[in-house]
Amino acid sequence: MGICDTLKEVEIDQAIEEPTEIMHINQDSETELPDQEVDPELFDVVKTHMVHGPCGSYNPRSPCMKNGICSKRFPKLFSTETVTSEGGYPFYRRRSPENCGIRMTIQSRASCIDIDNRWIVPFSPVLSRTFRAHINVELCRSIKSIKYICKYVNKGSDLVVFGVQNANDEVTSYQNGRYISTSEAI
Ligand SMILES: [Zn+2]
Repeated sequence: MGICDTLKEVEIDQAIEEPTEIMHINQDSETELPDQEVDPELFDVVKTHMVHGPCGSYNPRSPCMKNGICSKRFPKLFSTETVTSEGGYPFYRRRSPENCGIRMTIQSRASCIDIDNRWIVPFSPVLSRTFRAHINVELCRSIKSIKYICKYVNKGSDLVVFGVQNANDEVTSYQNGRYISTSEAI
């Protein structure tokens, strides 16, 4: 196989990899309201637990507001597709109501507010459906993520000390409990 064939293969692999990666991102972390007719259970969980704020002009006293703007950068911008970025964080698909996005009305304090996909916190359909709670799931593919999960490397390994009930048991008398931290696991 010559170098031209190799380069062609690389180009093909890269061409295939990108849509597949986008597909995985969309499967693992969603940022759009589910269709209430199609999936009423997930719609209910997202409506109850995964709507940010509302903040901004709707609620200037929201805890996320810092110097007059949302520190979490909501509402996000509409986007017709999920796009990967150089920063390692994807720019998630958030379709507008004019482009098949779902819109709903929620009660916020004394008023009703129209909510669209710009206010949805990224979530995992599997986790949200299972735990029915606020679980923010965002994907990061930056090499810095390795540094992040290993940032406690200088603190040494975590240890768990526990008592053994039966003092006469020869095995349990010498048993040590050890916790494997992320840096060791990797
Ligand atoms: Zn906010």
